Amino acid sequence: MLGSSGKIYLGCNIENAAYSPTNCAERTAIFKAVSEGETSFKALAVVADTTAVITPCGVCRQVMAEFFDDQVIIVLANLHGQVEETTIAKLLPGAFTGDSYGL
Ligand SMILES: [Zn+2]
Repeated sequence: MLGSSGKIYLGCNIENAAYSPTNCAERTAIFKAVSEGETSFKALAVVADTTAVITPCGVCRQVMAEFFDDQVIIVLANLHGQVEETTIAKLLPGAFTGDSYGL
């Protein structure tokens, strides 16, 4: 995660025996950045050792929609050199956000 300040925040999956409290790497990085005062972002890279590029789960997409504007570049990649760039508007069109309803 690249904040507008230029600082890079790393995340990893934080897994638990019960699935519900598990936290994906994307959210770990976003929450880490927000907890350190970063409120604006430039880019997020999601990388995994997968056969196709990895894509964020629905929960992470919702969090991204709350914190990212459409200028944030989301890079999806794997360790085999496949790379795609996208935005949260493409990953979660019509997202529910506080801005949408004046909240
Ligand atoms: Zn996720």
